[in-house]
Amino acid sequence: MSSNLVIVYHRQPYEEVEVDGKIEYRENKSPNGIVPTLKSFFGRFEKGAWVAWKEAEDPSNPDFERVIEIDDQYGTYSVSRLPLTREQVSSFYHVSSKEAFWPILHGFKERYNYDPVDWPTFREVNWAFAEAAAAEAAEGAVVWVHDYNLWLVPGYLRKLRPDVKISFYHHTPFPSADIFNVLPWRKEILESLLACDVVGFHIPRYVNNFVHAARSLLEVDVLKREKVKPELSSQTSALSEQSVPTRLTYGGHEITLQASPVGVDVEYIERLAGTEETAVKLAEVRKELGEAQLILSVGRTDYTKGGIEQLQSYERLLDSRPDLRGKVRLMHVSVAANRNMVAYEEIQNDLEQLAGRINGRFGSFEWQPVALISQPVPFRDLIAYYQAADVAWITPLADGMNLVCKEYCAARTDGDGVLVLSEFAGAAVELSSAVLTNPFSHRAMDSAISAALVMSEEDRRARMEEMRRVVSKHDIRFWAEDQIQAFGAKDLPVSLVSPAA
Ligand code: UDP
Repeated sequence: MSSNLVIVYHRQPYEEVEVDGKIEYRENKSPNGIVPTLKSFFGRFEKGAWVAWKEAEDPSNPDFERVIEIDDQYGTYSVSRLPLTREQVSSFYHVSSKEAFWPILHGFKERYNYDPVDWPTFREVNWAFAEAAAAEAAEGAVVWVHDYNLWLVPGYLRKLRPDVKISFYHHTPFPSADIFNVLPWRKEILESLLACDVVGFHIPRYVNNFVHAARSLLEVDVLKREKVKPELSSQTSALSEQSVPTRLTYGGHEITLQASPVGVDVEYIERLAGTEETAVKLAEVRKELGEAQLILSVGRTDYTKGGIEQLQSYERLLDSRPDLRGKVRLMHVSVAANRNMVAYEEIQNDLEQLAGRINGRFGSFEWQPVALISQPVPFRDLIAYYQAADVAWITPLADGMNLVCKEYCAARTDGDGVLVLSEFAGAAVELSSAVLTNPFSHRAMDSAISAALVMSEEDRRARMEEMRRVVSKHDIRFWAEDQIQAFGAKDLPVSLVSPAA
C-alpha cells in the first residue's frame, strides 16, 4: 500500500534479534536516539513507510523479505529493506561517507581521503534508495530523507517522482564553501539538495554555509532572508549568525530552508531522573566520590569530539594545580561507534595512552584522576552520572548539535551543575549561559575548567535555570512540530509518545 510519509534513513528502525530461529523486531536499546522520534511521525500520517539497507550476499535474491509490516507502539508501518552487499555498504558508508565526507563536513581537510572513494557505487546505492522510496510513496506523499550518506537521493527521486514533496534533514554541520568545495562531486551533491522542497539544518550557520556553497557554483537566488530568532542568535558563540536565508530559487524551483535544532526528550529524561533506581545509583556514585568533585565527559571516539585535547587540558590542570590532586575525578566516556576503522583505532590508542600517563603521573592507590570508559554506559545510568557531575565538560572541535550537553541540563532537575561547552558545538548558539570555551586554545580550555570548578552556587544555579529553560523549550517535540510545519502539514497534531521510564 502506498504511504503518505516515507522516511529514508540508512539504518533500520529496530534491532533484529533471532529467537529460536525466528527473527523478532525489537525496539532499539537506546530509547533516546533520533529513531523513536522519527517513528513517532507515523502516528500523524495515514500510512507510513521506512526505507533502510540490509546486508545480503546476493542482492538480486536476498534471503529476507524486502518489505515487511511492523506493528508497534508507533502504529503500523512498512519497512523496505534494500539489499546491499557487504562491499557496497563498506564503499558507500565506511569509505565515501566516513573517510571522505565526514572530515570535510567537520572542517578537517587534512583527514579527507579521496583515493578510495568509489563514486559510481555511491551513486548506485543512492539510486537504489531513491527507487525504493519512489515505490513506497503515494501520490503527493512527503518523502523525508536523512543525512549526508543519502545526498544524491533527492535529485534521483525528483526524476522518478516529480509529484512528491521532498524534505532533507542534515544531521551534521554543513561547512563553508572553502571547505565543502574540496569535494570533487560538490556540484552534483548541491544540485541534488536543490531538488528538495525543504532542506533542514540544526542552526543558521549551516544554512548560510549551504547557500554560500550553492551560490559559488550554481545560479541560485535568495528569495527571502530573515532575522535569526533571538534564542538562536546569541552573539557570544563562534557559530552565531544574525540573519539567514529561508527561501531560495534554482532553475524555476523554490526551496524552503530551515534552521531547526534537534532537542532531547526532556519529559522522558526528567521522568528517569525522578525514579528510585536513579536515586539509588546517584547515592552510590556520590558515596564513591567522597569529597572529590566529578567532571564528566561523554562522547563517541572520534577526532571531531576533541577527546585528546580535553585530556591534555586535564593533565595541564593537575600539573599546575597540585592542590586539586585527590580533589577531582574525571569520568571520560568515549565510546567507539565505528570499530573497524583505522582512524578511530588510532584515537582509542591515543586516549588510552594519555589517560594511562595521567593516572601514572598523578594517581595513587587511593585516587585515580581519570576513568577512561570505552564501553557504552546505559542511558539510565548516564542520567545518574549527569546528576552526580559537578561539571559536564563537553568540548568537541566540531559537532553538528551535541545532545549530551542538552541531556545534562535536562537531567539536572535539582537546578545545579556547571556546563563547560565548546563554542563549536551547534548547541552553543542556544546555550549561551554555559561556560563557553575554545578547544583549539590551551588557555581558553584551561581557564574554563578551572572557573567551572570554583563557580559559586548562585552563579551555577542562575546559568542552569536559563539553560534548562532553553533545553525544555527546544525539546524534541518542538523540533518535530517544526518539521511538520515545514512539510506543509500544519494541521497535524504533534503528540510524540515518550518511552516508559
Ligand atoms: N550515549 C549513551 N551512552 C554512552 C555514550 C553516549 O547513551 O555511553 C548517548 C548519549 O546519551 C547521547 C548520544 O549517545 O544521546 C550521543 O549523541 P550526541 O549528539 O551527543 O553525539 P553524536 O554521537 O550523535 O555525535
